[in-house]
Amino acid sequence: MRIAILSRNSKLYSTRRLVEAAEQRGHEAIVLDHLKCSVTSEIGNPQIFYNGKEVKDINAIIPRIGNSVTMYGTAIVRQFEMQKVFSANSSLAIVRARDKLRSIQILSRHHIGIPKTVFANHAKDINNLISLIDGPPVVIKLLEGTQGIGVVLAETRKAAKSVVEAFHGLKADILVQEFIKEADGADIRAFVVNGKVVGAMKRQGAEGEFRSNLHRGGTSSAVKLSSAERKAAVAAAKAMGLSVAGVDLLQSSRGPLILEVNSSPGLEGIETALKKDIATRIIQFVEKGTEKRIKVDKVG
Ligand code: ADP
Ligand code: GLU
Repeated sequence: MRIAILSRNSKLYSTRRLVEAAEQRGHEAIVLDHLKCSVTSEIGNPQIFYNGKEVKDINAIIPRIGNSVTMYGTAIVRQFEMQKVFSANSSLAIVRARDKLRSIQILSRHHIGIPKTVFANHAKDINNLISLIDGPPVVIKLLEGTQGIGVVLAETRKAAKSVVEAFHGLKADILVQEFIKEADGADIRAFVVNGKVVGAMKRQGAEGEFRSNLHRGGTSSAVKLSSAERKAAVAAAKAMGLSVAGVDLLQSSRGPLILEVNSSPGLEGIETALKKDIATRIIQFVEKGTEKRIKVDKVG
């Protein structure tokens, strides 16, 4: 097969590993920077060009679309889908997962456990918002934040009010969430491929830090999931329509609570922590999907 990995940088660990795993299984793997792809559209003839040359004869794509280029990146994925090329994740599912509010609504609709969350577009009556989620303490999150930046723990009503007012003053969209204290500064990343957890790690925040992001100094180790955690991770990926997903969850006293479902989960952290080849699992899924023409989602 000819597999295209849509990635901005062929030197990134995840990109390199996917190329390596594809080649090991006898495929041709090429890396296409989605920002260097252009498309032409006319009735029934969706074409894709790369550096001025038409991209042809691709059997499958693996999108690795960064947060900052979701719209353009998913347009390129969609163009491949219009050519009936199999995509490891559909453009629609990627767009869905990038929208934190929409993700929360989808998970809630599917009866999947999430921390109690409120969002509101006005700074008035912050007291009421805090009470709605049984705070303080509360966690306040910037909708546009990643890697733990813009995630703030407010331990008192006064602190929560100041933070909400400050974010609103900056015209930043936020959500306010109950603080899951018993997670104890740790979360779990479950890597889901084609409806199965293929690996899971626990990330523990640095001393005195409630955020477990590796970018914030957290450390990771292999973890065995409970059956409830496994089920929640698989259900969350399915609800979002993602075949390849990094599902982040908190261990709470009322069971697993999903924080986020990532559509381009990194391979470095999980492969290193688990000493496991996850890239090959993705390639095997892509083989199966292409062969059986598994429909990952509609073209939306
Ligand atoms: P980002 O997408 O920027 O990583 P997250 O929502 O995943 O933001 O939050 C970053 C980290 O903060 C999580 O990995 C988790 O350790 C911690 N955290 C987030 N929300 C809560 C919460 N409601 N209760 C307890 N800890 C939380
Ligand atoms: N309402 C469904 C969702 O949010 C489908 C949306 C769509 O197909 O665009 O996942």
